[in-house]
This record gives sequence, C-alpha cells and structure tokens, in this order.
Amino acid sequence: MSVQNDLWFDASKCFIGGEWVAPVSGETLPLENPSDGSEIARIARGQRADVDAAVQAAQTALSGEWGRKTAVERGRILTRIGQLVLERVDVLARLEAADVGKPLKQACADAVALARYMEFYGGAADKIHGETIPYLDGYTVYTLREPHGVTAHIVPWNYPMQIIGRSVGAALTMGNAAVLKPAEEACLTTLAFAKIAEEAGLPAGALNVVPGLGEEAGAALSSHPEINHISFTGSVGVGSLIQKAAADAIVPVTLELGGKSPQIVFDDADLDAALPFLVNAGVQNAGQTCSASSRILVQRGVYEKLTEMMGERYRALKVGPAMDDLDVGPLISARQKEIVEGFVKAADPARIIAQATIVDSAPKGGHYFAPTLYGGIDPDDPLAQNEIFGPVQAIIPFDTEADALRIANGTAYGLVASIWTRDGARQMRLAKALRAGQVFINNYGAGGGVELPFGGVGKSGHGREKGFEALYGFSVLKTVAAHHG
Ligand code: NAP
Ligand code: MG
Repeated sequence: MSVQNDLWFDASKCFIGGEWVAPVSGETLPLENPSDGSEIARIARGQRADVDAAVQAAQTALSGEWGRKTAVERGRILTRIGQLVLERVDVLARLEAADVGKPLKQACADAVALARYMEFYGGAADKIHGETIPYLDGYTVYTLREPHGVTAHIVPWNYPMQIIGRSVGAALTMGNAAVLKPAEEACLTTLAFAKIAEEAGLPAGALNVVPGLGEEAGAALSSHPEINHISFTGSVGVGSLIQKAAADAIVPVTLELGGKSPQIVFDDADLDAALPFLVNAGVQNAGQTCSASSRILVQRGVYEKLTEMMGERYRALKVGPAMDDLDVGPLISARQKEIVEGFVKAADPARIIAQATIVDSAPKGGHYFAPTLYGGIDPDDPLAQNEIFGPVQAIIPFDTEADALRIANGTAYGLVASIWTRDGARQMRLAKALRAGQVFINNYGAGGGVELPFGGVGKSGHGREKGFEALYGFSVLKTVAAHHG
C-alpha cells in the first residue's frame, strides 16, 4: 500500500526552526507498514547535531515571536491547528493506519482526539491564572504561571496522535517551546502534525520534530543540558533511563509507562453491559495500549457464564490489514510479535479459552497475532503480572471483595482500574482503595476524554497528563511579594 498521495510534506526531513531540513548526517531509516511488511517511506535518522539545532531553535522561539504571544493568541493558534486537523482527519487516519497498522476506524478516532486536544487546550489557554494571597500589612502577593522553557517530548509508536495531543498540546498552551522525538516505527502523523501546525501559523521553533533512533536522537534529547522538562511515554526500562537523565540535569519529568490494568466483575454486575468493555479494552489497538485491560477479575458466581460470554466474543473477532478496518490489526513490528508470542509460548496452553481469527487475506509479511483469552489464571502467573503489550487477556477468579482488591493491587503497576457492580457502597470503597491513576465504575475508559487527568502510580509512572492538570505540570509557579507600605 502506498502513502505517497497522502504525504503533503517531506517525510524524510526533520522540522527544525520552522524549516524542513535533512538530518546533518544525511542518513534515513525505513518506515514499515506492519500490515504487509512493506517499506512505505524513509524518515530522517536524526542525531545529536539535529537535536542540538532543534533545542537551539526552541530557545530562539522563546525569546522571539513565540515567547511574546499572549495566552489568547496561543489559544487561537491551537484552536486553528485543531480545525485543520479536523479537516484532515481522513488523510491522518490513512497515514496512521499504514504506519501503525491501526484499523481505519481506530486511526480516525485518534485523529479526532488530536483535534479535541487542540480545541480543549486552545480554549483553556487564557483560563489558567495565578492567585492573590492575603499576607502581611503593606504587602501584595500574587502568583504567576510561567512556562518551563524548552520541553522534550519522547513519544512511542502506539498512539502517536493522542500522545502528541496531550503532551505537546499542553506544553504549547503554557508557552513552552517543544522538541519532539517520535518513535522510529511510527513518524508520519507526527510530521503531518508539524506541517499542520506550520500551516496554522505556529511561529517557527515553537515545535520541532527530530525523528531517529531512541538510543541516538532520544538519548541526545533527554540528556541535553539546555532542556527544562521531559515528558516520556514508553517502557519502564527506558523510563528509568529518562528519569536518570532528568536527575543529572535536575529537570522535572513526566513518565507514562503502561500498566496491567484490572477490570473487577462482581456477581451482581450487568454482564451484558460489561462484556464489550471487558473485551475491547484488551484488544483495542491489538492490545498495544498503555491503559489496556489485561486482567479480568471475576467473582466465582458469574465466572463460568462470563468466561463463556467473553470466549464467544473472542471467537467472533477478525484480525487483518488496517485498511480492511476489521476488529484488530497487526502488531507494530516483528519484534513486538516475538515478545507477545514469547508470553504465549511460556503459558499453559490448556488455559486458553478462545482465540480470534486471522483472515485468510492477511498478507504473509504482516505481523499478525490472534487475540488470545486465558481463563483460570493465578494472580501470580506471568500472564497476570507482566505487561504483554499485545491482545492477551487473563481471567482471574476471586471469592470476596477483599480478595479482589488484593489481586487488583498486586502488581508493580497502577494506571487504570474498573469496577463492575450495582452495589454503590462497594463502588465507593473500591474506588478509594484501588491503586490506580484512574478508576472507572461500570465502564472502562469513559471514552478517553481529553478532559480527564491521566497518569499512573508505581511502575506506571508519575505526573499527570490531560485535562487542566497537564497545564499545571507544563508550567512553573512564581510567587511575587510586593512591599508597598
Ligand atoms: P521504548 O523503547 O520505551 O520507546 C519509547 C520511546 O522512547 C521511543 O520514541 C523510543 O525511540 C525512545 N527511546 C528508546 N530508547 C531510548 C533511550 N535510550 N533514550 C531516549 N529515548 C529512547 O518502547 P518500545 O521499544 O517502543 O516498546 C517496548 C515496550 O514498551 C512495549 O512492549 C511496552 O511494554 C512498552 N510501551 C509502553 C507504552 C505506553 O504507552 N506506556 C508505549 C509503547 C511501549 P525508538 O522507538 O525510536 O527507539
Ligand atoms: Mg510503521
């Protein structure tokens, strides 16, 4: 499948200081379509020199036109970016489908979410303010919310548009200048976003994009002495490296590192209402979602019935090329497929309840993996402890509310959790006791609203993105105390 007709920008360039420039080394990297293994474009192999230029361009922007923009003006630009994104939803969705392997409808939803972030943050830009603080006689004290300066954004391949929206959107709203390193596996919509921002009149240097390898461009960016904040989404291992780099430079860091998120289904739950959420939260984006629900905790009284219901739904799922827009697309890469298959090979095959079907027309070069549902899994089983990052769900039976809570909180992660019960008091008790950044009651994800603060505890990371909370994170509070007698 060719994306040539959809590329209205040069995918092999970096976007630095408002210019589309080749990387200093002149080198490029291949970009693969995971649905068939073909090369769809070549992207810049950015390295330290390109990152240096991007950080320099961001600093120039802060002391130039971008730094002088008022909150209202920044808001207007973001709103305009959002409008242009909405006009290009179809092309963005096609690019993402080809690059990430997302079924078109899911890619389309990501593009709309990107527009929503720009609308939300565009509207919020002039609604964030400091306060006046009553103090000693003869003083007037007030606070100002100021940008950090240059913010570094290191983005994974699973939801490029959503992650750019929530992190770059919030950073620009508060007047920071951003340097963005997309994942080498998925760059097209990030570059498209930069092109749209340029078309919307974002001043040069406010947003810079340097594609490249994590250990080259990513490491050069996170350890750059002139950056003032790092926002990272990805694996725990790299997250730890990023936090060390931030410690050396003494800059704040936001880490979003995935999870092992549970849904807890009690005997009194509305199983028909729960079913689509239980399955979809595990297989959406082929399970490559930080907030995927990979553990389904089910009370004994409905265990048999729910396991059967979920199994039936799994058997009906169709897996195939992104452009065919089936239920599930391929995994991002051969490497990711190997990781996911590794978990399945190590697990007890007798515990498999059901698997989805890969359609016959799926090209052989694609990285297809049939979503797999396991039942009767022990809470300590590797399937119930490790983030698999593929469409694999483990059903874990439990007896009492106390057991459910212990199992739900019994991993190193704590990103998202949901509770399915009609018992209001139980809803309130568990919502408080669950170790997670977001808790859902009788739903999962709440439609992913851009308004809802998001982030983890434990190995899921720290800091909050989305909503107004992100705007506090992407700004620094200054206290001004004036003595006037
Ligand atoms: P990753 O290695 O953590 O990659 C995330 C981002 O960090 C990418 O842009 C990557 O660049 C960059 N990076 C890699 N090494 C770096 C370094 N030394 N310094 C600075 N930046 C660096 O994640 P992955 O390899 O794509 O996926 C591996 C696992 O991470 C998955 O199986 C999953 O468990 C987890 N993951 C979680 C999320 C999430 O949403 N929380 C998203 C993706 C992956 P390159 O990709 O170009 O190397
Ligand atoms: Mg790709």
